[in-house]
Amino acid sequence: MASLLTKTAAQVARRTLLPLSSRLYSSESPVYSRVDPVKGKVADDKVDMPDTLGHAVGTERFELLAKAAGNEDPFELNIKKRAKGTRGEPTIIPSMYHYRLVGCICEEDAVSINWMYLYKGEPRRCNCGYWFKLVDLEVPDYGQ
Ligand SMILES: [Zn+2]
Repeated sequence: MASLLTKTAAQVARRTLLPLSSRLYSSESPVYSRVDPVKGKVADDKVDMPDTLGHAVGTERFELLAKAAGNEDPFELNIKKRAKGTRGEPTIIPSMYHYRLVGCICEEDAVSINWMYLYKGEPRRCNCGYWFKLVDLEVPDYGQ
């Protein structure tokens, strides 16, 4: 009896969710053509349990969807090479917040990192002379 109720509930859920998923796939966004945003979240006859993406929520789901779309660094945490570093052409640091902690390896063979806080709208110069500027991180919608 319980399995019959579960099957019926799954069939009803599938019928109600199907139009939503077909709408997402038909979107013109290029991200939707690469990523299945409802993968693991829709009941399926072929799958007994959701996979990792199906269990993930919040920032973990955002990160998994971003990686599926080809963005290996969705939070901009990888090391960046300094740009020209002048006041007119500073090294651009993207951030989701109004400030960010940034470390500058001032010389190639330096054994320490010079840490400093960068604030939006306030380009800052490291002690070595390189300029850094904080800008808004553009967060694409992966359908999370
Ligand atoms: Zn420096």
